[in-house]
Amino acid sequence: MNLESSLITWIQKKSGKLSSAVKLGIGDDCAVVKFSGDLIFTKDSLVEGTHFKWGYQTLFQLGRKALAVNLSDVAAMGGVPLYALVELGIPKKFSQEKIKEIYRGIFFEAKTQATTIIGGNIVTSACFWISITLIGKSAKHFVTRSGARSHDLIGVAGYLGLATAGLHSIKRGLKGYGVLKKAYQKPCVLVGVGSVLAQKRWVHAMIDVSDGFLKDLNHVCCQSKLGAQIEITNLSIHPQLSLWAKKNNKNVFHALLSGGEDYALLFTFPSKHLKNIHKLLKNNGILFNVLGEITPKKGLFLTQKGKPHPLPKCLGYDHFS
Ligand SMILES: [Mg+2]
Repeated sequence: MNLESSLITWIQKKSGKLSSAVKLGIGDDCAVVKFSGDLIFTKDSLVEGTHFKWGYQTLFQLGRKALAVNLSDVAAMGGVPLYALVELGIPKKFSQEKIKEIYRGIFFEAKTQATTIIGGNIVTSACFWISITLIGKSAKHFVTRSGARSHDLIGVAGYLGLATAGLHSIKRGLKGYGVLKKAYQKPCVLVGVGSVLAQKRWVHAMIDVSDGFLKDLNHVCCQSKLGAQIEITNLSIHPQLSLWAKKNNKNVFHALLSGGEDYALLFTFPSKHLKNIHKLLKNNGILFNVLGEITPKKGLFLTQKGKPHPLPKCLGYDHFS
């Protein structure tokens, strides 16, 4: 038995009991699943040096996060995750034990969202990367980025700015800031929230905030051919984030508006449903803020206590910069 086949046997055992819809899982040339209805597909990758650095998280956390970023995209469509295909690019000297630890993280995250790993691939590569294809089931009404309407309110579920501050704290070896570091290393994805919102036809547009609030809001505005007006003081600031900003001489609004990897959900809806949204989210313990309004005039406009506030030069994380 060579290295790869013993590893595949281990992965197959770890993938656990298959749901009845999976006719064939890991181990053959293809997986086979039964389905009816609309399927949704997404794929996201974490590349060493580009999306993460060794030492900023454990191998287990890296595995969890590789799946979580995909789960967040499914949440943004209001879908329910079902199956995942996992592909790893492994440098030659990478040990089998390290690969297993990454897989343990992937399986852990998969279990929290009832997602089955049905296949994948391991290849040798000059640098390390993980790429996951996630297949989900669409809700009756899937929510896109392009459906926003003029005068919709812009809501955000979840905190912003924590992960970027967490990454800074980890890089600098700062003591404390547990909430911020956790937000970076173990992002909490709002799969349940996304599907609850998608059940409401009046939730017009949705996106997960992965690259920074302004950058992702800009995607919604461009694809909906509209603009947005944001009052930045409407953003909830986590007490650890304000402490971090104060002690490290950082602009808290920069972290809130342009920091990436928070995996909050940004969505738009008519103001007459504000009470319903509050009921759906706030009463279930999900932090929720209305930050502004979709405008017929294109472009992003920021205010701070009603006075114009300049748009930051960099709206968010750019993978190609
Ligand atoms: Mg996304």
